[in-house]
Amino acid sequence: MSAAVQTPNPDPVALRQMMVDRFGPRSVLTEAADTRRYRRDWHGDAEGEAVAVLRPASTAEVAEIVRFCAERNLAVVPQGGNTGLVLGGIPTSADGHVLLSLERMNRIRTIDAADFSAVVEAGCVLAAIKTAVEAEDLFFPLSLGAEGSCQIGGNISTNAGGINVLRYGMTREMILGLEVVLADGTIWNGLSTLRKNNSGVDLKQLFIGAEGTLGIVTAAAIRLVPKPTRTETALLALADRSDVMALYALARRECCDLLSAFELVPPEGMMLAKEADPNLALPQIAPAPAYALIDVSATGSLDLKPLVERFFETAMERGLVIDGVLASSESQGADLWQIRDGMNEGQAKRGVHLRTDLSVPPSKVAPFIQEGMEEIARCLPDCLPVAYGHVGDGNIHFNVLPPAGLERAERDAQLKTAKTILQAIVDRYDGGISAEHGVGRLKRDDFATRRSPVQERLLRGVKALLDPREMLNPGCQLPSARDGRDLTVF
Ligand SMILES: Cc1cc2nc3c(=O)[nH]c(=O)nc-3n(C[C@H](O)[C@H](O)[C@H](O)COP(=O)(O)OP(=O)(O)OC[C@H]3O[C@@H](n4cnc5c(N)ncnc54)[C@H](O)[C@@H]3O)c2cc1C
Repeated sequence: MSAAVQTPNPDPVALRQMMVDRFGPRSVLTEAADTRRYRRDWHGDAEGEAVAVLRPASTAEVAEIVRFCAERNLAVVPQGGNTGLVLGGIPTSADGHVLLSLERMNRIRTIDAADFSAVVEAGCVLAAIKTAVEAEDLFFPLSLGAEGSCQIGGNISTNAGGINVLRYGMTREMILGLEVVLADGTIWNGLSTLRKNNSGVDLKQLFIGAEGTLGIVTAAAIRLVPKPTRTETALLALADRSDVMALYALARRECCDLLSAFELVPPEGMMLAKEADPNLALPQIAPAPAYALIDVSATGSLDLKPLVERFFETAMERGLVIDGVLASSESQGADLWQIRDGMNEGQAKRGVHLRTDLSVPPSKVAPFIQEGMEEIARCLPDCLPVAYGHVGDGNIHFNVLPPAGLERAERDAQLKTAKTILQAIVDRYDGGISAEHGVGRLKRDDFATRRSPVQERLLRGVKALLDPREMLNPGCQLPSARDGRDLTVF
């Protein structure tokens, strides 16, 4: 990456003052101490730089900022809750990038129970949307560990997945319409709440998963469903990790397709969750090579308990499961999910490690994990491999934690080896290197080597049409001369 941005105003101090004068002190942060939390990624592994952080409060202000930046040849890097895991929202140039935070655009514009839809601004925190619609007896099914911080604009821009994909789909399937500020400052109002609309190409799809490279999402019309009235949560101890997909298939059939989450939790994951929170209450369950954490939910008066108990008995009879805990209350169910959420924190506390977001066809999940475990143990015997996640979607977070106390160069070499091993297996299974987190800056080169010439031509063509001057998030997804320096990775 090279610093190739030439700004017409080379004096950053004067430029910042101009921004404060134009947009007001509340909307502009310029001091390093104030901008740091925006420039650092969630794990604290990397820190970028920017001329300033701009915090508009309305769509019109976003459009004005985009125009202001375009006139001064400044690139705009949008950011939501900054929980992204691929450095997509981290700017990389102290004189050429402006970080645009959507955090002040956090109004829920409408909730329409009759239409099962809502219109929300991009900066709404996901958990706040979920709470607001639940008060109206509705449900927004997107659910992920970062939901207390991530914003719907970020979810849309990464096409986030999470734990409920197997039932409700990725974010893309929950979006009815979008409002977007384009690279020249034009506002596109595509906030339709129609379920069916085949009038030409569905333009909103271009911006979903674009990671801020094609437009700034300022609001969204979202699809809601009735709020589930019952949820049964269970943690099941598998007889053998390779049985995980057989158990998944059984769960789908036995639970009448009411399965809404199916997560693989390895024993190391429980240990890491406990490390993150020593007060975490682990359930009384038999030691096992792997566990499945499942949710079954429904609306109306359907009694789910017998369904889940019958599934559990069948799984035991077939020798897939050796033990299990069925939550007897909502709070016990939440405690079980606490284990899954705590795993992320436990890994973060161990310091820099390899985080992957791989996908293979569901039928290949078990052999992929097995081969990955064997290869890591053979080549990197001191590292801790942790394979977990949304296996119902064929999505495995196969992470590798190096031993403590390694020199940085040695640690980086080990993580590179681990990545090469895992990606080689994924490629052999025709899998994907980014199932749900996106490409960002972290996976840009891995993405580049896996694109066909036709895909390359189409992606570049779309970018050239919507953002010909590469003003929006340059260096994210695709390389760009407007990208700044390499990010400082700690
Ligand atoms: C503990 C933890 C658990 C997680 N679990 C999951 C999971 O289960 N599934 C999953 O998919 N992800 C998961 N993530 C990753 C992350 O939470 C998601 O990618 C989330 O969608 C990012 O939202 P954000 O608001 O934080 O976006 P940011 O991190 O702020 O930005 C992400 C990308 O979107 C762009 N962007 C943000 N807002 C806008 C906008 N308004 N317009 C245009 N572009 C924009 C940014 O430029 C960047 O490229 C997890 C992260 C953490 C820390």
